[in-house]
Amino acid sequence: MPEVSLIDLHSHSNASDGAFTPEELVAFAKKRGVKVLALTDHDTTGGIERAMAAAGDGLQLVPGIEVSTTWKNFQIHVAALFIDIHAPCIEELMQVQAQKRLERALAIGRLLERQGFENAYERTKAQAGEGASITRGNYSRYIASTGACRTSDEAFNKYLRRGRPAYVATRWGSVEDAVKIILEAGGIPVLAHPRRYEMTNTKLRELIACFKQAGGVALEAASSQQKPNDRIYLADLCVRFELLASVGSDFHALNTWRDPGHNLMLPEGRCTALWEAEQYRHLFTVHTQKSVTAGTN
Ligand code: AMP
Ligand code: MN
Ligand code: MN
Ligand code: MN
Repeated sequence: MPEVSLIDLHSHSNASDGAFTPEELVAFAKKRGVKVLALTDHDTTGGIERAMAAAGDGLQLVPGIEVSTTWKNFQIHVAALFIDIHAPCIEELMQVQAQKRLERALAIGRLLERQGFENAYERTKAQAGEGASITRGNYSRYIASTGACRTSDEAFNKYLRRGRPAYVATRWGSVEDAVKIILEAGGIPVLAHPRRYEMTNTKLRELIACFKQAGGVALEAASSQQKPNDRIYLADLCVRFELLASVGSDFHALNTWRDPGHNLMLPEGRCTALWEAEQYRHLFTVHTQKSVTAGTN
């Protein structure tokens, strides 16, 4: 039986590119045994209220966002945890991001039409939740559903990644501005999946220094699909840059080895977790990452 960690601070619903509705996501996480779950949809708070309502007793739903930013030509994701979703600065940021996402999604759709996918934007949109924030993740699942590719991973690699025919570059806001806005909304800025940016270690340290300097609080040191060495490396970077450690499955859909709470233990005694830190402890209903045996599906 797989082990499930109690705290998972990164997940998606169909308010962006997750396959589950906010209610289905919460039910699935609960069933598996997760006790604290952050919903961090891409550039939208659209699913938060529904997820909160579904959480009730037995699961603490942390209101979050995964904010897209640009740093030196890299697309960097800054997760915002425990934000006030109605703070004016967040509402304003969500509007700016939604406009960029819409323009980009339409541009990707036009490029996919040229590859033979008719009405690609409309069809991708129809598969997502109402008013969802459309990402390349949505498009990759749509392409796979047409049978043109076997998996969404294959669709991503064939059409959507940089250098492929439907890639559209977007200029997002800066890391510094995202951090500033998150702090202003009373939230905790977390640098998401730092090992997934395909940059050198030197560049990554430069990025982390910039994030810290701007007021960043934590690094996502444990993700579900990660090599053990990466986790130790990131835990040590937390200490070096005086940052706390966060953890997140980045769950989007079933059968991807990223189920809520899956494989999220931090290396023992190497870094301080957000829920253990004096300043943030009170925000959490659970203060240990100890694992339980997964509930049956
Ligand atoms: P975007 O923010 O529009 O650039 O889309 C990024 C999203 O695409 C990520 O959050 C993932 O959900 C998805 N994605 C990234 N890499 C892959 C991949 N190799 N296969 C499938 N989906 C991916
Ligand atoms: Mn995604
Ligand atoms: Mn991400
Ligand atoms: Mn994510």
